[in-house]
Amino acid sequence: MSTSQASPQSDSSNVEVRMRAVLERQKQAHIREGAPSAELRIDRINRAIGLIVDHKDEICAALSADFGYRSTDQSIMSDVVGSLGGLRDAKKYLRKWMRPERRSAMFPMNLAGGKARVEYQPLGTVGLITPWNFPMAMTFSPLAGIFSAGNRVMMKPSEYTPRASELLARMFSSAYDENEVAVFTGGPDVGQAFSALPFDHIIFIGATAVGKHIMRAAAENLVPVTLELGGKSPTIIGRSAAMQMSTDRIMNGKMLNAGQICLAPDYVFVPKGSEEAFVSSAKHSVAAMYPSLKDNPDYTSVINQRHYDRLQGYISDAQSKGARIVEINPANEDFSQQPAHKIPPTLLLDVTEDMKIAQEEIFGPLLMVKTYSGVDEAIDYINTHPRPLALYYFGEDKVEQSRVLNRTTSGGVAVNDVMMHVAQEDLPFGGVGASGMGSYHGHDGFKNFSHAKAVFEQGRRFDLGRFMRPPFTPRLRKILLSQVKR
Ligand code: NAD
Repeated sequence: MSTSQASPQSDSSNVEVRMRAVLERQKQAHIREGAPSAELRIDRINRAIGLIVDHKDEICAALSADFGYRSTDQSIMSDVVGSLGGLRDAKKYLRKWMRPERRSAMFPMNLAGGKARVEYQPLGTVGLITPWNFPMAMTFSPLAGIFSAGNRVMMKPSEYTPRASELLARMFSSAYDENEVAVFTGGPDVGQAFSALPFDHIIFIGATAVGKHIMRAAAENLVPVTLELGGKSPTIIGRSAAMQMSTDRIMNGKMLNAGQICLAPDYVFVPKGSEEAFVSSAKHSVAAMYPSLKDNPDYTSVINQRHYDRLQGYISDAQSKGARIVEINPANEDFSQQPAHKIPPTLLLDVTEDMKIAQEEIFGPLLMVKTYSGVDEAIDYINTHPRPLALYYFGEDKVEQSRVLNRTTSGGVAVNDVMMHVAQEDLPFGGVGASGMGSYHGHDGFKNFSHAKAVFEQGRRFDLGRFMRPPFTPRLRKILLSQVKR
């Protein structure tokens, strides 16, 4: 069993040669061995589950070291338990998913005993490119679909989490032949060479801007892509919403992983006049969860200096252009001296469109608070911006809720909560427009990583085709013309 990880010294052309060779071997193995049995798929899934269970402590330690500080409980929740759910679900249902699906044969072929079905075939080798924010969950969650559909996989984890990426390379090389799974570590240069490979499918999880490069590279080989991207996920608090319950859930979503979540609420719309109620309620929610922040073991750091500076830049840019900044710092701690890059949750009010924070995905513990007079104002704002990955509505007004849901298009929606739709394995997870294309999780993941092959079996009851073969007869014409009607 050989490891496919690139040492930091290896130059990218060397890695490229090795990646091409592994892909070629995986393709040959797929052709030679054909679609794997359900038992082999389950075995691959079991090995993945075993890796997570056996390495849970190492996983949490690597993630904390990579982030500067990351809550162990949060890592257990998001990257350990969060990685297991999809794999277990796939194991349970994959035999059912693998069954051919009967479809209806068309008249008149059905009369002759013609039969139609869809058979789900593995695609072959899937290329998986992952981000740094949940290095394990973003790897194992798509693997559930990739393995259940019978594929092999090559992965390129993020350079921002070097320890977690090295751990992934080590874990997979200990449990899989590289003909089944191969991990290549490295930065954007390795990512670029990786996305130019003639995979059977690429799934990219990362930023919208990088997603465009991936799609361009994949287009050269006509490789289909699933793009799981980011963006600005809006939240609307309706007039009928219970404010404290809403801020408890919103601030939890904003502070988990220090807001470094593709699904984190990016901005919140509150009814005009409710801003102060929102601010005081949000302060209360934060203090209840995090009486202090700086040394609180539950509160995670911003990943690195670059992202810390980016987020501080949003605050100073907004402040200089007239925004009101409300830092929520329950214990009044001094954040100017600290070993990690922790940023207290910060609300930004009176934000205008010329501010950077209004234009870019926040991806950190900052939240813009906007106001609306009528809910259509919030809907119109959302519709003049790129389609988001998620949208959240809080309130009890069903008419308003369906107006918001019907008039906006987002990858997914949670009502009276944030982000929890991602935890429903039976719902497709994916974006739309600028937030991505294609979806996975559960049965949708199985289908996303399968080729739905159409199979038609001609009936033997009588040779229907003889009417359709030349020489064409007046009878055929009569039959055909009988079909030309409204
Ligand atoms: P990123 O796009 O910068 O990097 C993701 C991966 O792509 C990394 O492995 C990186 O090395 C690689 N990469 C970078 N440039 C590349 C290039 N030119 N060609 C090929 N590969 C390249 O994203 P990130 O900073 O790691 O993660 C944050 C982003 O990911 C946010 O926008 C967030 O919303 C998004 N995200 C989306 C989801 C989702 O499921 N939709 C989940 C997590 C994160």
